[in-house]
Amino acid sequence: MTKTMHPETMMLHAGPRCEAGTGAVAVPIFQTSSFQFRNSEHAANLFALKELGPIYSRIGNPTTDALEQKMSAMEGGVAALAVSSGQAASAVAIQNLCRPGDNVVSSTDLYGGTWNLFANTLPSMGVTVRFVDPADPEAFRRATDARTRAYYAETLPNPKLMVFPIGEVAAIGRELGVPLIMDNTASPLICRPFDHGAAVVVHSLTKYVGGHGTSIGGIIIDGGNFDWTAHKERFPTLNEPDPSYHGAVWTEAVKPLGPIAYIIRARVVLLRDMGMCMSPFNAFQFIQGLETLALRMREHCSNAAEVALHLQRHPEVSRVIYPGLHEDKEQIRRAQTYMKGFGGLVGFELKRGGEAGARFIDALKLFYHVANIGDVRSLAIHPASTTHSQLSPDDQLASGVTPGYVRLSVGIEHIDDIIADLDQALAVAAGGIAKAA
Ligand code: PLP
Repeated sequence: MTKTMHPETMMLHAGPRCEAGTGAVAVPIFQTSSFQFRNSEHAANLFALKELGPIYSRIGNPTTDALEQKMSAMEGGVAALAVSSGQAASAVAIQNLCRPGDNVVSSTDLYGGTWNLFANTLPSMGVTVRFVDPADPEAFRRATDARTRAYYAETLPNPKLMVFPIGEVAAIGRELGVPLIMDNTASPLICRPFDHGAAVVVHSLTKYVGGHGTSIGGIIIDGGNFDWTAHKERFPTLNEPDPSYHGAVWTEAVKPLGPIAYIIRARVVLLRDMGMCMSPFNAFQFIQGLETLALRMREHCSNAAEVALHLQRHPEVSRVIYPGLHEDKEQIRRAQTYMKGFGGLVGFELKRGGEAGARFIDALKLFYHVANIGDVRSLAIHPASTTHSQLSPDDQLASGVTPGYVRLSVGIEHIDDIIADLDQALAVAAGGIAKAA
């Protein structure tokens, strides 16, 4: 598949064009744990990584391989690793570089689950995360020291919806020898972080890529654009002999296969040892999702833009949070620089506060009240009492969650029906408060 084609085309056509044995065009679900070796030499070569191919589905499977190739082509990377969830993707992306005593510098603007991983679980394993405000990209430089192994951020952070300065922070990282890992979950296709200097991209496929709310999955994509040997001392996991693989030095061992040391190590060491693999069935579901992702993203973006404008004019709404409607000119510049379209997420605050927010959510008829985003259906949630409830009030505020904040993931229904549902729920929320008062 030629790399000069557009991402929309490559994500459909990258990977095997059809199944070799039968000619099946749709990628088959290879629901098998193991793959028979042709002979002893073949088996030995596969285990020694002299030849790449499926051995055992915890480490690789042809259905997940097809998904990995398509996602990698879509993002403009060189190789990918599918895992069991978006959370696993974030955790593995970092664990692949860190040992106890190391640190990561992360944006404060994060999904609540990632915040917990960084604030509590990674530190309990000896890896500290230094949170910095992405309003000032230089904050990443100031927080960096000799044990900093990566920078981490979300392109379109949910729920703050302030587009991350990818190019600025990636450039600082490249100067200091620190790779930028971008979580691109909320903006597949409308942002390609590798085009702006990111080194690794992760996704929760559970969201827009799957698109239908059926499956949990994640992926890590290696941009193949970061020289892990230029600052060898920063990356001992890739540059020092690995006792778990006969002393292999990953940057040396996989050179003949291309610039894929990072992603190969994640697969053959972390997936091998910790086992957070994706099932072939889920990989099939995500491939199905990819086939309509371009169409769906267009609808999500245009419906969300109309919803944001409508809410902005609504008398019950005090504030709309949407990348295309920021008062801060720098925020608008970042959104226009890094994204083609502003995504499908809209946040807002009701004039009458948190109680009205809860009434609004309970009055919705078309919107589902769920914790997910990126489904074809419209979804709504009150983050302070749900997705972000495990965070302290201060941490909630730092990640953009006020008590009255409502987050919408605008679906692909007809826009008139979406707006009618919002209007009737806003009316109920307003009336309910008035009666209670
Ligand atoms: N990253 C972002 C931006 C998310 O919104 C989520 C889930 O909401 C995740 C990661 C975690 O993904 P998963 O639920 O697939 O583990």
